Amino acid sequence: MPELPEVETVRRGLQPAMEGVRFTKVEVRRPDLRWPFPENFAKRLEGKTLTGLGRRGKYLLADLSSGEVLLMHLGMSGSFRVSNGSAQKTPGNYHHERSKLSAHDHVVFHMSNGSVVTFNDPRRFGFMKLVPRAKLDDDPLMRAMGPEPLGNAFDAAMLAQACQGKKTSLKAALLDQRIVAGLGNIYVCEALHRARLSPKRRASTIASRTGAPNDHALRLVEGIRQVLNDAIKAGGSSLRDHRLTDGALGMFQHNFRAYDREGEKCVTPGCKGRIRRIVQTGRSTFFCPVCQK
Ligand SMILES: [Zn+2]
Repeated sequence: MPELPEVETVRRGLQPAMEGVRFTKVEVRRPDLRWPFPENFAKRLEGKTLTGLGRRGKYLLADLSSGEVLLMHLGMSGSFRVSNGSAQKTPGNYHHERSKLSAHDHVVFHMSNGSVVTFNDPRRFGFMKLVPRAKLDDDPLMRAMGPEPLGNAFDAAMLAQACQGKKTSLKAALLDQRIVAGLGNIYVCEALHRARLSPKRRASTIASRTGAPNDHALRLVEGIRQVLNDAIKAGGSSLRDHRLTDGALGMFQHNFRAYDREGEKCVTPGCKGRIRRIVQTGRSTFFCPVCQK
């Protein structure tokens, strides 16, 4: 599933084709994805200009000249393909064959600049929704979401407060989108390794009893910001079970320090540990039992 850096990579890839550009025609080829499309979906987009393409957590937010926001989520397997004449690219990193199967092309945006933006989603866990801009913050999907980890509001004090008294593991806390938005399994493993904190540690241990941040919280915020910034710079990650696309490839998987490195030597300077894999809440956690305490 794409995480924040992958969605940000997609956003940047779509921007030149869509931002400031009008929807001339919208094809919707089935009634639903994860959920039904909004009523009159195509009509509410056609003739409108996409005034700005933003992101919140793992959601793409396209502001429309109508005052509505087109909210899009990639789900497990969603991807966009941008073509203009003979040129074609697929921002982000996806399974080559599936993304090319036109049977899974569910939505096609024809833009006034000649760009054709196709949403392909074999497993149909993605979705699109229209929300009035003025009501976006009240939308259930947005309202429950924690701070943007790369935003100014996110810091050690805020993270510590959110984890205060929490008996769950630090790993589970960081995966909770109400505590911090946009992180998934990969970047949580990577951030914890950089912060040299065990994924098994109780979440509450990054805060004092009064909720003040300790050194762990400071290191963790630093680790989260670093790994996300590095991953965005690298264009996200292409996962092992995803074949390469002919579009721009994410290279961050070559920089993984813990994720998917079971049995390999820890790269922390001076550490003699090897990366271990355990299962936490049904998902693989990769960490170094020597330097992550
Ligand atoms: Zn280590």
